Amino acid sequence: MLSIKNLHANIEGKEILKGINLEVKAGEVHAIMGPNGSGKSSLASVLAGRENYEVTEGEVWLDGKNLLDMKPEVRAREGVFLAFQYPVEIPGVSNINFLRTALSEIRTHRELPQLSAKEFLKMTKEKQALVEFEAKLANRSLNQGFSGGEKKRNEVFQLAMLEPKLSILDETDSGLDIDALRIVSNGINKLRSADNAFVLITHYQRLLEYIVPDFVHVLYNGQIVRSGTKELALELEEKGYDWLKEEFHGNE
Ligand code: ADP
Ligand code: MG
Ligand code: MG
Repeated sequence: MLSIKNLHANIEGKEILKGINLEVKAGEVHAIMGPNGSGKSSLASVLAGRENYEVTEGEVWLDGKNLLDMKPEVRAREGVFLAFQYPVEIPGVSNINFLRTALSEIRTHRELPQLSAKEFLKMTKEKQALVEFEAKLANRSLNQGFSGGEKKRNEVFQLAMLEPKLSILDETDSGLDIDALRIVSNGINKLRSADNAFVLITHYQRLLEYIVPDFVHVLYNGQIVRSGTKELALELEEKGYDWLKEEFHGNE
């Protein structure tokens, strides 16, 4: 589904990603962990197509299509979901109207028939129940005045509605209290299927107690320096990240 090959990227002339390789297949959940400043959010930004990043080398393929050639909105239509790809706050546009438009564009792109108002409402109710999302949040202006936890829960609701092939969620566990963490994790667990894939970017191991990943990768200094299964996350929880500095000293 997603194939990242030797990806290098700069921001303001400084190299941040220094040769990332990653293969994500349908049905898989990958966790990317690593200390602050290692390039996790930069990787998500490059995949989202944020303009301030310059890709200097490497390739990214999504189901055989060149992701780096696509504009951000095309990436979304092609089935890539990045939480922050969607506008942070839009006063006057309700969450639900925003999703109606986004879903309509996606369905057009996938050559699926448009939903009637009644079908859309039914879907909204089903998905709200699935991810335990309150109707009152759905009708508020997009993300306006949302708490950190509400924003994250809204992301999971957006995921449920838009049914992306590939979801990349950055720091989904940050700022979540234990109830919100459980709701977000349950939502993602319910949305996992053989047809979709998730890349969870997280600093902490806590999220991975709820969402069990198939693979765990450690990003350090712009490179994936170790890959393993969920045991690697436990090992990191125990050892922290200091060993990376010793092991990869001089790699800067
Ligand atoms: P992480 O998400 O792993 O904490 P980031 O991707 O946010 O790491 O940051 C990686 C590196 O890129 C850091 O050294 C950070 O200072 C630098 N960086 C991030 N954004 C910018 C920016 N807008 N301008 C300059 N440097 C940046
Ligand atoms: Mg950070
Ligand atoms: Mg980050």
